[in-house]
This record gives sequence, C-alpha cells and structure tokens, in this order.
Amino acid sequence: MTDTEAARARIGHNASPDLRSWLQRLAATGRLAVAREGVSLIDQLAAVSKKLELDRAVMFPRPGGHAIAVVANLFVDRNWVADSIGVPTEQLLSRFQQAARQPLPWTEVKEAAVQEVVHRDVDLLKLLPIPKHNEHDSGPYITAALLIARNPKTGIQNVSIHRCQVSGPDRIGVLLLPRHTHHYFRMAEQAGEALEIALVIGVHPACILASQAIAALDEDEMAIAGALLGAPVDMVKCRTNQVRVPAHAEIVIEGRILPKVREPEGPFGEFPQYYGARANREVIQVDAVTHRKHAIFHTIVGGGMEHLLLGEIPREATLLDHLQRSFPSVQDVRLTRGGTCRYHLVVKIDKRNDGEPKNIIMGAFGGHYDLKQVTVVDPDVDIDNPHEIEWAVATRFQADRDLVVVAGAQGSRLDPSSQAGISAKMGLDATKPVEADMMKFKRIHVKGLEELDLMSMLEQDSGTAFAKTMAGAAG
Ligand code: MN
Repeated sequence: MTDTEAARARIGHNASPDLRSWLQRLAATGRLAVAREGVSLIDQLAAVSKKLELDRAVMFPRPGGHAIAVVANLFVDRNWVADSIGVPTEQLLSRFQQAARQPLPWTEVKEAAVQEVVHRDVDLLKLLPIPKHNEHDSGPYITAALLIARNPKTGIQNVSIHRCQVSGPDRIGVLLLPRHTHHYFRMAEQAGEALEIALVIGVHPACILASQAIAALDEDEMAIAGALLGAPVDMVKCRTNQVRVPAHAEIVIEGRILPKVREPEGPFGEFPQYYGARANREVIQVDAVTHRKHAIFHTIVGGGMEHLLLGEIPREATLLDHLQRSFPSVQDVRLTRGGTCRYHLVVKIDKRNDGEPKNIIMGAFGGHYDLKQVTVVDPDVDIDNPHEIEWAVATRFQADRDLVVVAGAQGSRLDPSSQAGISAKMGLDATKPVEADMMKFKRIHVKGLEELDLMSMLEQDSGTAFAKTMAGAAG
C-alpha cells in the first residue's frame, strides 16, 4: 500500500469525503457536543464554541430559530488535524509536505449535492445562520468560507479564506491581504471588470487545510486537498459564473468582487487576539446562493483555537519544505501558540556548522512575511513545549552574539505594533556550538529514570508508612 492509499484507508472513505463524514467521525468518538436548540447567533453561539474550543466540536441545531444548523471547533488540537487526514500526529507535517509537492488535480462533475437548492433572490441573513463572534465585531461575519477565484487570464483557480462581513442583503465586505486573490482582483480591476468568485461553506477539513498552504501564485490549492484525501475533489461549475466549487460542499455563495468599489469593513476579532480595524475594503456583490437540502453552516470563531490551528499546520508544513530545500539540517518547525501560530517560528536543526542558524533565520523570513521572530534550537529541545524553548534561549543564546535584527521589513498588517504592516524581524540562534566542551552543554539526567517502574517503588498505604517512619524517627 502506498502512503496515499494508507491515508485514504484511514480517512475511511470510498466515495468523496465531506464535512458530514468528519462530523460522523467526531460524533462516533465522543468528540461532538450538541447545543440545545435556539442558541442565539449573536455572541452566544461564539461563547459556547469558545468554552469548548480545547475540548469538543459543537453543533447548534436551529440557532436563533434558523432552520440551518451551525458547527464550530472542527479541530481542538493537532491530533485532530492529523486524524482528519488519516495520519498519526508525528506524520502530520510530512504528509502535508508530500501533498503540496504532489498535488492531485480536481475533476469536474455535472451534478452536485451543493446545488440541490438554488436561490437567486438573496437575503443573506434570512437564508443563512451567520453568527456575530467577538464583542466588537461590526456584526455577523462569514468566517469559514473558502473564497475561490479564477485567474482572469488563465482560469486557474485560487483557494483562500477571508473574513466576510455581511454588509447588506446581497453585499459582503471582504478583506483581501496582499496575496493571490488580491493579485487576481487587481488584474480584473485594471481591465475594468469584476472578479468572479464563490464562497464555499462546509467542506471536508482537508479542503480547509489545503486553502492555507503557502503555495505559489497559480497553484490551485484544491489539488493539494485532493492529494491529502488521496482522491481528486469533485468540482461543479457555479450557476451564475465560471468558478468551480467542491460538489460535496454544504453551501455556496456565488458573486463578484466589484471593480472601483470600496466600502467600510470591520472591526473584526482576528488571530493576533486584537480587532482588525475598520477601513474601506473590497465588496462582493452576491448573485446566488446554492446549498444542500438540510445544509450545515460551518463557522470559525475569530482568534479561537480552530482559527489558530487551521493556519498553523499548513504554514508549518510549507515553511518546513521551504527551509529543507536549502538547509538539510532542518528537522522540524513549530509556529508557537504564544506567537499566534503565525508570527513566531521555532526551527529544530541538527547543526553541522556554526553560523548556519543565522542563514536559516534569514531563509525563514523569506518564507512568509508574517514571520516576525525565528528561534533556532538543537534536536534535544522539545519544540511543543514553550518552557523548553525558553530554556534553550536562556542557556544557549547570547544577545550580543546570537541575535539577528532586520529593520523595516514587510510584516503582518494585523500586528498592532507594526506600522501599517512595516515590521522588524528578530532571529535568535539558541543552538550550542558545534565544538562544545563535552560536559559544558550536557543536559543533566538521572540514570534509570525512563525505565523506572514507579508503582513498584512506592508503599501502597502512604499514611501508615508515613506514621511508621515518623514513629521510628521520634524513637
Ligand atoms: Mn494561492
């Protein structure tokens, strides 16, 4: 069996997997809570999701009296992410790397579940249960939609996720960061045209993960999703434009990003745990909504654990690939939670040459503009443990010798300490020297610790044993 076949078997599908197959798996393994009917879409749904974000997925039947159910918390930790694509957690990044290297293009189908119901006269808040999440969000936001756009010249599709503010019955304000959708939109706008798009809600987790890969321009992320799933994703043409969307999706909003139109969008609670500011941003004119019968609406609470994890894993995998291309000593990477799973990277290396960590730091900053701090550590550091990372900095790093600072680079606009996205970068080489004295950097260790059978070494009744010892001590 190849790796892909094995992963496919573990995902447990014969036909095309979808959001429902993942929810079934969560329910069958005690990982899905169901809220009572009628939880409010304003604040309350987000509060329940947030309370459960480290523990369980949650489904909301009839939220705010709405016929369509909402789900949140598709992942609570990296083990769930690995499970969703059918691999053990330690193979999560390598599996994603493999999928990004060998994408599997989608196939087109004529009929699709997602087009069972078609609405051409659209009132978004009446049709869909769209929640308001963080306290000072400007209102209801669609947060878990894949935005699929076509390169206006070549028709190649891009898949990404953007925050989408409901601005009117058939109008959406959208934040386009300076990446691929923005590039396609500028091409369309310069030609005086709208950019055809679709917002796809309720898909298999592999599609959501793939959308977050740091792929090249004109690399279709849905082909990465196909590789993750071990089978091409079935795609269907939208009813009102040329965009192709996953046939297994729950809900699709078809529309166009309008040229020369900007309207206020924001504030919105974001992954750095701050509100993204209100400003004039691009606008989507909605042309149609299609959905399955008894559709399910997926929402992501802005800045919640699901939001952080969804960005983290694909970025780690693609940054690891990027680094390993130039630096074979790189073994693993983590985007730390304290660094909002976007800004602070830890790189584990098996160092061969002094100085190498600084090259790796510079290479990492080239991998994604969001990266603000890179810490390089040795193989004996557990990079899932923030205390271990700090220990490496505390005992193997000297600021006058091991610090790299770059001023005035491009950073994240959502970092409130940046100046409109202009940001400094900091690199820390927390590795020990190659030619270190044997004992100087030897980590302390108690002999026999790992093999010890603790229970066989302890008295069962500690109360009696304590009294006896004390009596003996007194006598
Ligand atoms: Mn892209």
